[in-house]
This record gives sequence, structure tokens and C-alpha cells, in this order.
Amino acid sequence: MRVSTAFSRLLRLEGVWVRGVRFEPDRVVVRVALRRRRLVCPECSFSTPHRHDIRPVLSAWRHLDLGVWRLEIRAQLRRLSCPVHGVRTEGVPFARMGSDFTKDFERLVAYLASRTDKSTICRLVRINWRTVGRIIERVSRDELDPRRLDELFDIGIDEVSWRKQHRYLTLVCDHQRRKVVWGTEGAGEKAADEFFGELGAERSAELRAISMDMGPGYAKSARKKEHAPQATICIDSYHVVALATKALDEVRRDYWNELRTLGDQQAARRFKDARWALLKNPENLTAKQAVTYRKLKRAGGRVWRAYTLKEALRAIFTAGLELDDVTVLIDRFISRATRSRLEPFVRLAKTITKHREGILAAIRLGITQGRTEALNNKVRLITRRAYGFHSAKAALALVLLTCGPIDLTLPHEFHLHP
Ligand SMILES: [Zn+2]
Repeated sequence: MRVSTAFSRLLRLEGVWVRGVRFEPDRVVVRVALRRRRLVCPECSFSTPHRHDIRPVLSAWRHLDLGVWRLEIRAQLRRLSCPVHGVRTEGVPFARMGSDFTKDFERLVAYLASRTDKSTICRLVRINWRTVGRIIERVSRDELDPRRLDELFDIGIDEVSWRKQHRYLTLVCDHQRRKVVWGTEGAGEKAADEFFGELGAERSAELRAISMDMGPGYAKSARKKEHAPQATICIDSYHVVALATKALDEVRRDYWNELRTLGDQQAARRFKDARWALLKNPENLTAKQAVTYRKLKRAGGRVWRAYTLKEALRAIFTAGLELDDVTVLIDRFISRATRSRLEPFVRLAKTITKHREGILAAIRLGITQGRTEALNNKVRLITRRAYGFHSAKAALALVLLTCGPIDLTLPHEFHLHP
């Protein structure tokens, strides 16, 4: 078998024949030529037999490694003039437009990015994290299920930070499929407007429930008459519990500051250490935190009262109770918090009263913590991994690769068992 024939079989590159193979000190270079005569625009399906000029464009793509060797594909491409996109270098079937990598290489990287951490990928594949970001942007654009916005009935809209300094992504999830189906950079009303714009009037009119936080932005957008005024606005219970945790932390901090001002440094320090014992759920405490927790309980006082209030609220949503029971318990919580003489909890009671209908609607329509929490936790874990990407688009691509309607296939699955 000739070397070029052997490489042609090995590489499985679509639409090319191998012209030559050369070993360089750090890589194997394979020269290929396109089989087709016609030139195809890289951005659309326009094709033409005519070259724009005779200038060749030397192009190179990295392909899957060959043993320990890097493998580089090189080709001389031609230029064409597309009536829509102007003068362009012709597209190739084995690589995406603007990419220095073959589709197979990008398939591998996308799969790894959805499964494993940054340092593993970068070391194994020998590319940097920003390059990973650019690759997954391209893959998620091509591979996401194009019907992902069809047949949406119950959705959730929420923001998540993808980088420090308040950089947010707004994500829309489908509660039925438990997938993230849409996302954009930014937060609030404007981001939601963008979503409804893309969804269109017909599909927006099918929405039954939209769950969200207690901020005004998303609700305002959903209520617009060209969006989804018919949908019931539900408040995701984890946002309610998160507010209670914040109120507890305020009570704890005030108390700690008082101790400090009173000059009781030692007590103040002990109290600062108690932070995690208070903010974590009791079943997740470490042994040391559990000791702190018991001390706090014995000491009683307002921090302990705040703690029991927060736990009481959390229990309402974790138990899987019926609507009638939740209604009674929420109202009882509101009156307890109102009378607590703890300023942050008095404020919390007001907020909950204001959103009582939405909180109860979530229970009534079955948008419960059990259904939303797993996806929510997964998204938060993934966005932490996206720190270090150059753009919000790359962070969003990582979320969609891992939590979206997409089936990633590895190169051998794609070629050998299609
Ligand atoms: Zn074109």
C-alpha cells in the first residue's frame, strides 16, 4: 500500500485525497487536495466553477494526533466571489469556517470539555483554554438541536455569573426536558426581551408557566403583551431560600460587629468562624462545624432565632408538601418573621408577602425545588469552570454543551457507527 493511500484511510477526511506525507521534527504534515472542482462559499451553499483569482491560499488545520505526533493537514485553497458574502476562501467539508482545526479534532475537544476539567484537556490535547473556548463556541452553534425552542410549556429564566465582577449569563431552561435551551450575555429585562424575540409570538403564546427570581426584570418582560402575558409567573423556591440565607448572614454579621465594638475580640473571632456552620444545611456540616452548631444552639439568642427561621422556610420547600400545606406554612412563616424583631427577616417577610402568589403558583404547577435544583447546581458548577474564558459566548457554549439538548459524538463514533 502506498503511503498516501494509507494516510487517506487513516485520516478519514471528507472530500479530499492525500498528495503527500512528510515528517517534521515536531509533527507529521499531510498535504491534501479537494476532490471537488467547484468552489463552495464557506458561509452558505453557493457554489461556482469560477475562481475569483489565481492566488492560492495556503491553509493548515490540526487533526487528531497520530500516536504521540501532532498531525497537520495542509491544502492550497482557492478564492471565490459569493454574491452574498463577497470574496472568500473556499470552504472545506472537513473543517468549520474560520477554524484551524478539523471537525474531528473539535468533536474530541467538545466532548472532553463537557466531561472534564481545564488542566486535563489542555495537557492532553495540547491547546490552551481560550482555544477550547473558541472551539466549543463553534461546536455548540452547529450541534445544538435546532428544534430546542419548539414545544416549550414550562420554562425557567435565571441568571448566573460566569466571571467575577458581575458578568452574567441569562439562561432559559425547559422544565419538562430539564435542559438549558437558550442563553445570552447579560441579565434582566433586556436579556428576556431577546429571548422572547427569538421565540416569536406563536411559540410564546404556548407558554404555561415561567419561573424566575423575585427581581422585577424578567417578570416585566414576560408580562409584555407581545411576549407571554398568559403564562403564570412562578417564583423558584431556591431563590426564596437563598434570600433567607442572606437575611441570616446579615443577623450574624451585625451581632459579630457588636461583639467587636464591645471589645470581646475572642467571642467575635469564634463567631466569625461560625459562619459556615450557620449557612450550610445541617445535614452537610463537617464534624467541627457540627460542634460549633451545637454551641450556637445552646447559646440561643437572636442568631439562633434567625437560624431556626431560615431552616423552617427551607423545610417548607424540601418536603414535597401539597399546596394546601405549603400555603399554611408560608403564611405562618410570614407572621413569625414579621414578629421576629430581626430587621432582615422583617424585610424578608415583606418580600415573600409580595411574591406569595408566585411562590405558591410554582408549587401548584409542580415547578418544585426537586425539579429545578439539580440542573441549577450543575449550571453553577459548569460556569465556575468557564472562568478564564475570553468571552461570554464561550461560557454559554460550555453550559449548552453540558446542560443543553445536544448529543456529542466522538470521532470514532461518528465515522465507524454513524
Ligand atoms: Zn456565501
